[in-house]
Amino acid sequence: MVTLEEIRAAQARIDGLVRVTPMRLSPALSAVAGGPVWLKCEHMQETGAFKLRGATNAAARLGKVAGVTTASTGNHGRALAHAARQLGLPAVICVSRLVPANKIAAIEALGAEARVTGASQDEAFKEARRLEREEGFALIPPFDHRDVIAGQGTLGLEILAQLPDAAAIAIPLSGGGLLAGVAAAAKAVNPRIRIIGISMERGAAMAASLAAGHPVEVEELETLADSLGGGIGLENRLTYAMCRDLMDELILVSEAEIARGIRFLGREEGETVEGAAAVGAAAVLADKLRAAPEPLVLLLSGRNIDPAQHRRILEGET
Ligand SMILES: *Cc1c(COP(=O)(O)O)cnc(C)c1O
Repeated sequence: MVTLEEIRAAQARIDGLVRVTPMRLSPALSAVAGGPVWLKCEHMQETGAFKLRGATNAAARLGKVAGVTTASTGNHGRALAHAARQLGLPAVICVSRLVPANKIAAIEALGAEARVTGASQDEAFKEARRLEREEGFALIPPFDHRDVIAGQGTLGLEILAQLPDAAAIAIPLSGGGLLAGVAAAAKAVNPRIRIIGISMERGAAMAASLAAGHPVEVEELETLADSLGGGIGLENRLTYAMCRDLMDELILVSEAEIARGIRFLGREEGETVEGAAAVGAAAVLADKLRAAPEPLVLLLSGRNIDPAQHRRILEGET
């Protein structure tokens, strides 16, 4: 398990390189839930997602390397590109053909090479492994890595510093680096805090793995929560066990519920978020979080949604 000491060290290491993001009460969601619901506005992080924390912490710990590389559905690649530039390192980001064009453009705008390869996250990962093996790059994976988890864990410390009486945190869940880090930090500070993971119904690899009792592969499907797609790795070393041991509850939300979450946060709260970040609001609106103790914190994990898609969803009726 990643420890509180590692997370505190990460916090000191990335201080000044990442933003402290706001935490605010959501009047509209509190009214729906019947008790206080807070928004941790990490979608306002530089590069538009929390992944900058883990990528910066991991890259800052490297010795001499040719550069950094990773495979990413977008936000981690973008984060690593930004971290590498801040630290003066070359970066090659390997992405699958499923990754939206706006995310590839964002990586290139950050001065990194975006290498489009394969039809899945796993295939893109093979190219990153080759760069590591043959060209002296350091491979920084998106979630299953101690320094990445510790970096994401700084969000747990930040949430409890901003709202010390938080009773539950609802966390978007894919590979589990975010949940593992936040849960490790939050439970070390307050062992009674409830950690709730939320994934989409379509292709939730961690949910399928926990149900099977070991990491399994799932078919990668298109979803509004595209940042939650991809497997957890059959050789998963850290996040599977940490999520199994630290997560109190796992909730799944449908595509229609995610769309409703995006729309509600946009219309009622003025927050532009991507699908992955809307799963908490989706769960509140679908009455799937009624058992959660309050104050409840929803972690808004990112804002990198195609603007045309966001507009269409905002204009939708359901
Ligand atoms: C990566 C990501 C997640 C999920 O994080 P994991 O560590 O893979 O569980 C959630 N939301 C956004 C916006 C992301 O980019």
